Order: sequence, then structure tokens, then C-alpha cells
Amino acid sequence: MPTTTRALSVPSAGAPFEAVDLERRDLRDDDVRIDIAFAGICHSDIHTVRDEWGAAHYPIVTGHEIAGTVSAVGDGVTKYKVGDRVGVGCLVDSCGACESCKNGQEMFCSKGSVGTYNSQNYDGEWAAGGYSQQIVVTERMVLRIPEGIELDEAAPLLCAGITTYSPLRRWGAGPGTRVAVVGVGGLGHMAVKLAAAMGAEVTTLSRSSAKAEDAKALGSSQHIATSDEDAMKAAKGSFDLIVNTVSADLDMETYVRLLRPNGALVNVGLPPSNFSVRPGSLIGGNKVLTGSNIGGIGETQEMLDFCAEHGIGATIEKLDASDTTTVDTAYDEVVAGKVRYRYVIDTSTIPG
Ligand code: NAP
Ligand code: ZN
Repeated sequence: MPTTTRALSVPSAGAPFEAVDLERRDLRDDDVRIDIAFAGICHSDIHTVRDEWGAAHYPIVTGHEIAGTVSAVGDGVTKYKVGDRVGVGCLVDSCGACESCKNGQEMFCSKGSVGTYNSQNYDGEWAAGGYSQQIVVTERMVLRIPEGIELDEAAPLLCAGITTYSPLRRWGAGPGTRVAVVGVGGLGHMAVKLAAAMGAEVTTLSRSSAKAEDAKALGSSQHIATSDEDAMKAAKGSFDLIVNTVSADLDMETYVRLLRPNGALVNVGLPPSNFSVRPGSLIGGNKVLTGSNIGGIGETQEMLDFCAEHGIGATIEKLDASDTTTVDTAYDEVVAGKVRYRYVIDTSTIPG
């Protein structure tokens, strides 16, 4: 029998959240049912709900930073049992057989990976995300949350954590490297914690000095206000790796200039518009301008284990959703750069 759960849903672009009943499928052999405790609010949820990327399918239940406890398992499940602490990130299915899936990059599945929301399952059903009290997911896409990370601080790791961990690893952040993080928000604050734990020297670039003290506490040894032209000039040619987490348009030339020769500027921020860079800006210095998309399931588990080993969780503000307008307001505050540093919905407060 399918189960009914409570969820926060948006009926159309620009409409506020409302509490609704949501049906979750009956357990298949390989399915895990999770009682969701917390769901982080990622800026991607906001881009989607506000239809900034186009192609949003309403009604929509967002949320792809999910932490909770297993409440039931299908007959064929081997990895998880009732009571286990688990998480779900941006993916709920992939073919499991193509080259990308076999290489641990399920997000590039050639059949098309299934996102946690705004995405159709292979049976045609629309996926509904984590702003709800329960979810059913095939065990292959479920992550184990190690003891030592509280579920509320773990939830944002499932997107903000892996999306920054993956490029930091790929581009060699570690002792002797100078890493800059642009934008100190949900992704940015995780990038700082992770890069510092990897042993890199971290600089934060933010619109102002307002987050300077926080950035230091997160692990940044230098904070630059991007509005300070002299400081930006002085930082020219400084960094081996820049991770741009900004959700809005930025002038890429400005940031390419901050790279050392052979340095890489990785974009994880996803504003909808194009950017442009003169080829000469990359050629002078063999610079790399690239992007990075979340991370695969294996690497997500590696990141969670790394976080447990280093005592890392997200820095969060918990949201009580019993008045659903709290979540609408939280969206506005994220866009205004006011969150410190990730809102996490306590899903038990979703009105019944
Ligand atoms: P967030 O918490 O809102 O953080 C974004 C940060 O960007 C803000 O804290 C702010 O930092 C800076 N910022 C915002 N507006 C700005 C503006 N107009 N000009 C300059 N800087 C501005 O968002 P998030 O959840 O970290 O997500 C960041 C971006 O990553 C979003 O576009 C999201 O869709 C994308 N994303 C991508 C992936 C992926 O796989 N690549 C995964 C998840 C999210 P300061 O206040 O420090 O300036
Ligand atoms: Zn996200």
C-alpha cells in the first residue's frame, strides 16, 4: 500500500508554500522508507520554485538535502535496516549500468538520472522532494550518516557538502594550495570548512566585510570584500583554485584574474544567464574555467565520512514550518544573503 505523508508544496510559480498530503509509493524490493527529520533549503530549490531555470513542473515539493531514519525496508534491501541514520541528496535514481553510473558519476547517467524533485521517475511519476515527513528511495541512492554528525547539521551536507567537496578534491585542494571561495552562503560556508579541513589555505570573497568574522571561524585565513577595489587588485594572481558559489551573475574576468598560472576557477553557482571571458584571459596563464555538478553516490559517502572524521557539520538555522509562511520568508532571506548559513526545516513541524 502506498503511504500518505505531509509535505510543503508550491502549486504554481510565485505562489506560497502550502501543507498538503503526498503519496509515497509502496516499497519495492530495493526500496527504503525514510522518516525525514530535517530538510535543508538550497538556493537551487529557490531557483526551481521561482521558475528561474524554466521547466519547473507544478505542484512541486522541493528539498534535496534530506536527513532522517529508516522506518521500513523492502524485502531485497541489504545495506540498511530500520533505525539507521540516513540521508538522500539530489539524486533518487539512475540506470546503474551505464559508463557514468559504473564510474560513480550517477548524475551523468546516460539514461538520465532522476533528480529528487522536478524530475520524472522511470515509471513516469513525478519525484517529490524532502520538505516532507517521509520519502521512499531505492537503497542504491541512500547514504549513511555517520554517528557524530547530528541529523540537522548533516542534512545540508547532502547537497552543499558534496557540491563543494567534489571540486575541492578533483582540483587538489590540500596542504600548500591556496583556495578562494566566492560567496559565503550555504555552499560557500561548506567549501570553507572542507577546504580548511583538507589543509588548504583558504580566502573568502564576499560582497562586504559583514561575514569576515564568521568566515574566520569557519576556517578562512583572509577575507576580501569584493567591493574593495584595492584588495581585489592586490589579490591578482593569488589562487590555485577558486570555487565560485554565487547564485547571481558575476564578471568572470574579475575572478580569472585572481588565478595563478595553471589555476582553476570552478563554477558551482548556477545563475540562469551566460557569462563571457576573453580567450586571452585564459590563454595567458593556462588557466582553467570549468564547472562542477554535485557528486556521485560513492563520493557523497566519502564526503560524509570525511565530515565525521573532521567533526564537520553545516552551520544551520532551524525552521519551524508550523506557519508555512516561515518558509516563504526564509526563501527571501536566502536570496537577500541573510541566512547564517543554511536554513533547515524541522519536518515534524509541517502542519497536519
Ligand atoms: P546561497 O546560500 O544563497 O549563497 C549564495 C551566496 O552568493 C550568497 O551567500 C552571497 O554571498 C552570494 N551572492 C548572492 N547574491 C549575490 C549577488 N547579487 N552578487 C554577488 N554575490 C551574491 O546559495 P547556495 O545554496 O549556496 O547556492 C549557490 C548557487 O549554487 C545557486 O545558484 C545554486 O543553484 C547552485 N548550486 C549548484 C549546484 C551544482 O551542482 N553545481 C548544487 C547546489 C547548488 P556573500 O553574501 O558572501 O557575498
Ligand atoms: Zn542543492
